[in-house]
Formats: sequence, structure tokens, C-alpha cells
Amino acid sequence: MRTPFIAGNWKMNLTKGEAKALAAAVAEKAKDLPGVEIGIIPAFVHIACAACAIKGKSSVGIGAQDVYFEKNGAFTGEVSAAMLTDLGVKYVLVGHSERRHVIGETDALLNKKLHAVIAAGLTVILCIGEKIEQRKANQTFNVCKTQLIEGLKGLDKSKAGQLVIAYEPVWAIGTGLNATKEQAQEVHAFVRDELVKIFDAPTAAGIRIQYGGSVKASNAVELLSQPDVDGALVGGASLKIDEFAGILAAAKK
Ligand code: PEP
Repeated sequence: MRTPFIAGNWKMNLTKGEAKALAAAVAEKAKDLPGVEIGIIPAFVHIACAACAIKGKSSVGIGAQDVYFEKNGAFTGEVSAAMLTDLGVKYVLVGHSERRHVIGETDALLNKKLHAVIAAGLTVILCIGEKIEQRKANQTFNVCKTQLIEGLKGLDKSKAGQLVIAYEPVWAIGTGLNATKEQAQEVHAFVRDELVKIFDAPTAAGIRIQYGGSVKASNAVELLSQPDVDGALVGGASLKIDEFAGILAAAKK
């Protein structure tokens, strides 16, 4: 059985004080949810204070929104996987749609980042998903397949325990327009079939596939009740503790 995994992507939001308070509030809510894996993903500058706010009090894991693939050196502005490990980070997002489509990161670059995260012993959350014009042109499966194959290139199945996939249709991110439960399940089942081809059936059966895109307390139950939806990557709603708590509660099976 796959443990449901809910992660809150705080993006470029919050002051240091707000990040500490929100981390502590999530840790408090997590006490009632032992069967749910919970992550918070602050901006780089808030990772240390968020980690400190929950240290020793909670099983909530800390994530990072990005990473650079080199180990160290003259890469001004970048952050390595070793630095993240040192801060107590457990998860790293790779290929969030804002990195792909706003910053312009390619599948080849994301594959290098994925390998850097895996080599550091951390869990990678590889984000994939189609834009609205691609969905309208019936390209959803092709886009997701390419992003999976290119992103996972060279990854041995023995490392699949360090892999989570987040299906995040770009048209649903930050728009208030979530995929329906049928749309989400259809793509998640497709992704799992592709994971069978890339790895094998038992490996694919163990990989969590999160849905992301305007998840809220009010739609979480129906999305999370789908057989291949193993959790959620939550943006906007993860900044409001009551909304996030509602999503966490929906994940409790
Ligand atoms: C995200 O940032 O990964 C996301 C899904 O955002 P939102 O929940 O705001 O759509």
C-alpha cells in the first residue's frame, strides 16, 4: 500500500516569521495524522527557520523548491543537494511547471538535477504536466510521457524508493480550475503504465503519484479517492493552515 503524501509548495511567499509560524502550525495538525506523509516546501531562505520551528516535534519533512546539479563551485546564486541535505531537507521538487515554463528549464537539465538529488540520498518529486493548448490538441499523454522518459533517463529501479511523481496540469496551477477526478485518474493511470515500461510492474506499483493544481479542502476528498492518486502537491492552499489541514484530513484513509 502506498502511504498518501501531501506536500505544500510555499513558492516565493512568506516572511521568516510567517514561515516559522506556518511550519509550527502544520506540525501541530500532523500530530493527528500518523498515516499521512506530510511535507512543507519553503523558499530556500526559509528552510532553516522552518526546520528549526518543527525540530524534534514532528514527522513533517522539509522540502526544497529547486536544486542545482553540480556539487559545488562557481555557480553564483545556485544551491547544491549537499547544502540541502545539511539543512535537513528530505524532498526536492524538480521540474515544477514554473521552473519549466517561466524560468525555461529543459528536460535535459531536469534530468541532471534529478540525478543530483538521488545521489545525495534525498527524495525527488518530479513534476510533469501539460499546458492547456497541449490538452486541447490531445497531447496530454505525449507530453507527460516525454517528460517522464527524459526526466527519469538513467535512473535505476533500485532508486525508485526515492522517487515521487507529481502530475500537475499547467492549466490547473494557481488558476482555481482543478482537473476533475476522472481527468486526474486517467493521467495518473497512464503515468503508472509508463512507469511499468520504464522500470517494472512491482516498482511502478510502489511509486507515489501526487496530483497538483488548485487542490483545496473542498475538492481534496474526491481527488484523493482515486485509485492512482496517492497524494497532492499543494500551492496556494498550503499557505492557509485551515485549508491545508482540510487537505491533510482528506488524505487520512
Ligand atoms: C503548485 O504550485 O505546485 C500548485 C499545484 O499550485 P496551486 O495549488 O496553487 O494550484
